[in-house]
Amino acid sequence: MRRIKLWARQFIADATELPLYQHGGGVCGSLDDEDVGNEIRLELQQLGKFFTVEDIVRFCGTTEMLERLGRTKTVSLSTAHRWLLKNGWRWARHGRAQYIDGHEREDVVKYRDSIYIPKIMELAQRMRRWIEDVGWALPPSVHRAVRIWFHDESTFYAHDRRKVFWAEAGAGALPEPKSEGPSLMIGDFVAPEVGWLRGPDGENARVVFRAGKGRDGYMTNSDILEQFERAVAIVRKHWPDEDHYFVYDNAPTHLKREDSALSAANMTKGPSAKFHVAVDVLNEHGRPAVDADGKKIKSKERMANGMHNGQEQSFYFPDDYEIVELRGWFKGTERILQERGYDTTGKKSQCGKSFHNDCPKDRTDCCCRRMLYSEPDFQQVLSQLELLAKKLGVSILYLPKFHCELNFIEQCWGYAKARYRVLPPTKSQDDMEKNVLKVLDEIPLETMQRFATRSLRFAHAYSTGLNGAQAAWVAKKYRGHRIIPDLTPLDLVEIGKRRDVGK
Ligand SMILES: [Zn+2]
Repeated sequence: MRRIKLWARQFIADATELPLYQHGGGVCGSLDDEDVGNEIRLELQQLGKFFTVEDIVRFCGTTEMLERLGRTKTVSLSTAHRWLLKNGWRWARHGRAQYIDGHEREDVVKYRDSIYIPKIMELAQRMRRWIEDVGWALPPSVHRAVRIWFHDESTFYAHDRRKVFWAEAGAGALPEPKSEGPSLMIGDFVAPEVGWLRGPDGENARVVFRAGKGRDGYMTNSDILEQFERAVAIVRKHWPDEDHYFVYDNAPTHLKREDSALSAANMTKGPSAKFHVAVDVLNEHGRPAVDADGKKIKSKERMANGMHNGQEQSFYFPDDYEIVELRGWFKGTERILQERGYDTTGKKSQCGKSFHNDCPKDRTDCCCRRMLYSEPDFQQVLSQLELLAKKLGVSILYLPKFHCELNFIEQCWGYAKARYRVLPPTKSQDDMEKNVLKVLDEIPLETMQRFATRSLRFAHAYSTGLNGAQAAWVAKKYRGHRIIPDLTPLDLVEIGKRRDVGK
């Protein structure tokens, strides 16, 4: 906490460092703008897994970036440092003081390369393509089109766009505190073919939140589900003969599971009278009910049934169980495993103190908790968003963490904010909202499609086995291409130089 205060003080001390306007009246930005941030990310990605804070200082001092930032000299080390922490980089010692890019974290890369990218590339084969003089057309072999909707939230600030928030990486957009002036959070969807998600009658699923207007200023899990349902209703009505995919980032509100979903986390090894899960109590509007202090009201419920070999398995002893004292009790992990036919002789409840760190690597049979955790029904628990999608006949795809280059809505926010900045300052929230919606709606479709192409180019680069550093280099070199062309021998030399810096 003290460190946060110190950083905040340092920030206030050099708050004048990032001007909002260029002297010439052109558009410029701060490191907190998505478009500037994307440029820096791209640069760092090319440097690979390790880089120093000086790399950002150096990059912001290049002619192109100085012009973009509207500055005559580069940013300070502390500004660059804050930006890194804020954007999910964590300091790691690797010979000398360097940062580690969450982008190339082992689990993130694994998810990106084995799940997200193969899926997106497969879907891309079934998307409509723009053909000159023809319009949007499906490849001849495809009979049912795929449409991919990218979701995201972004916050616009009325006065000061240089605010720094300390947020856990991946926590999503945070609201501006009420006392510090108005802000507006927008959540919406885009697709490459049409831009913003809009029905022919103007229907949309956009969410606009004002900080402190009876809302907390950010989207809760139930807001996310509500918005998703609206979006699905529109796409199913207007594009009923297509398969719709919705891409969300890894924010906790998007990943939330049912309260009663299977989880081995807090289970006891032996029978327990107390083991239950805390479930939200809903009010008459179907939203979580809160008490006088604004805290969610929870009720104790049983965990949902497991599923083993196609059979449901209750984790609680039946009401007519032979041992009267155990009736209705939680069975415990050992008993649950035994009922599934496992030998639990000599297995402890859990290896060591930390379930996350103390089990031997790659083992699934070391302790009762790990064994149950590794069971298919525990592994395949769907998020609430995925469950709802299944019910509504559409699909959800989660982006790999830290890969904002794969979500083209990020660039749409950046583009809109650059335009928002040159509008006259507004006094009322109503005027601010009008301006924000105006700049969002005025992004040319052609521009959005260029952003979509860039994201697809990145996905294609990853699909050819390139790491983050190589993908960034290739995507930059082949600006404007939908897919990466065959690489030249010289390209391969450049790629080779970046072989070990990533993965
Ligand atoms: Zn274990």
